[in-house]
Amino acid sequence: MKISMSAPDLGEAEINAVTEVLKSSHLSLGPRLEEFERAAAQRAGVRHGIGVNSGTSGLHLAVIAAGLGENDLAITTPFSFVASSNCLLYERAIPIFVDVDRRTGNIDPVQVALAAEDLTRGGARGRRWLPPAFRSRLDPQGLRLKAIIPVDVFGQPVDLDPILSAARRHELVVIHDTCEAIGAQYKGRSVGSDADAAVFAFYPNKQMTTGEGGVLVTNRDDWAVLFRSLRNQGRDVFDSWLSHSRLGYNYRLDEMSAALGLVQIKRLDQLLEKRSRVAGWYTERLSPFEGIDVPCVEPSTTLMSWFTYVIRVSPPVGRNRLMDSLLTCDIPSRPYFSPIHLQPFYREKFGYQAGDFPVAEELGEISLALPFSSVMSEDQVDVVCSAIRAALG
Ligand SMILES: *Cc1c(COP(=O)(O)O)cnc(C)c1O
Repeated sequence: MKISMSAPDLGEAEINAVTEVLKSSHLSLGPRLEEFERAAAQRAGVRHGIGVNSGTSGLHLAVIAAGLGENDLAITTPFSFVASSNCLLYERAIPIFVDVDRRTGNIDPVQVALAAEDLTRGGARGRRWLPPAFRSRLDPQGLRLKAIIPVDVFGQPVDLDPILSAARRHELVVIHDTCEAIGAQYKGRSVGSDADAAVFAFYPNKQMTTGEGGVLVTNRDDWAVLFRSLRNQGRDVFDSWLSHSRLGYNYRLDEMSAALGLVQIKRLDQLLEKRSRVAGWYTERLSPFEGIDVPCVEPSTTLMSWFTYVIRVSPPVGRNRLMDSLLTCDIPSRPYFSPIHLQPFYREKFGYQAGDFPVAEELGEISLALPFSSVMSEDQVDVVCSAIRAALG
C-alpha cells in the first residue's frame, strides 16, 4: 500500500451521516450545524461554537470582531501556516512577527511581552518591532497595537499564560489559532477556552475533518452574535433574508460538512489516541538515530493533539537530502513550515529578508514532516524509518 502524507479516518458512520443529510434535502443552516456547533463548544469548554467554511474564514471573522483595521497591529508568529497572518492582511492590519521558541516552534512568550510593552509605549523602542518597510514610512504614533494571535504549532499548545497576562496588561484581544490542536490540553485546560476567540479547522489533513470547514469558539456573547451575522452575509438573527445590517460574507458551513464533523468530533478521543500511538511508533524508532531530533512535548502540554509528526534533521545528510532520498523510495515528506515573513508577497509588502527571525528560519530549514495519520499502520512506520536509516547511512 502506498504511503501518503496524510489521510482522513472515515468509516460507515460518516458515510451514513452525510447520506442522511442528502436524503433530508435540508442542505444548509439546519439541525446538524447547530448540533455540531454545540459539540465543538463543549469540546473547548466554552459557551458558543460558530461553524464556518474554513479555519481561515474563522480567523478572518475574529480579526473583524477584534476591530482590527487599517494600520492596526497584531503580534503573531512567522512560523505557522500562512492563514494565521493573512487574516490580518484581509483587514489591512499589520502583522508584527516575533521569533519563536526553538524547542516547540511556538511563539516565544517573552518576546511577545517585550513587543507588547514596546509597541504600547511607541517611540524608537516600539518602531524596531515594525516590519522593515514600515519603520520609516509610517508615523508610529498612528499605529495601534490591538491583538495577539498565538498559534499551537503541530498540535502542541503554545505557552499561553504569559501571553494572556501581557494581553491583560496592555488591553489586547487574544485570538487563538488552535487550528492544529483540537482536543489538546494546556496545563489541564482544553485549548480554545482561554482566549477571546479560538479557531479549529477541519481540512482533510487535520485530526478530524469536515472536508472544508472550521469552528469559532468563544465565551463572549457579543462576539458569538457578530460571528453568526458575519458568516451569513451580515444578516442579524432578526433580519429577513434580504436585509443586511453590516458587511458580511458567505462563510457558512453546509449540513453535509456539519454531519461529517459531528461523527468525527464524537470520535475525536479515539482519533487522537490513534495518532498518539503512531507518533509513539515513530519516536521509539527514530530517537536513537544520530542526526534526527524527534518532537519534544513540553511539561505544560498535558495532552498533545498530534497534527503532524515533524522531525529535525542535522548535517551531514540534512533535511533536503533526506527528503530526496525518501522520495526515491516513493515516501512523501514535506518541509514544515516555510516561514511566513519570507513568502514572496510578505517580502515585497513588508520588506522582510532572511535573517529577520533566525529561529523560525532555522526551523524552516531543518524541519521535515513525515507521513502521518490515524490510519497509518506500524508496518508503514517501519518502512519510513528504515528508509530514513538507509538515507542516514
Ligand atoms: C489548517 C490551519 C488553518 C486553517 O486552514 P483552512 O484550510 O482555512 O481550514 C489556520 N491556521 C493554521 C496554523 C492551520 O494549520
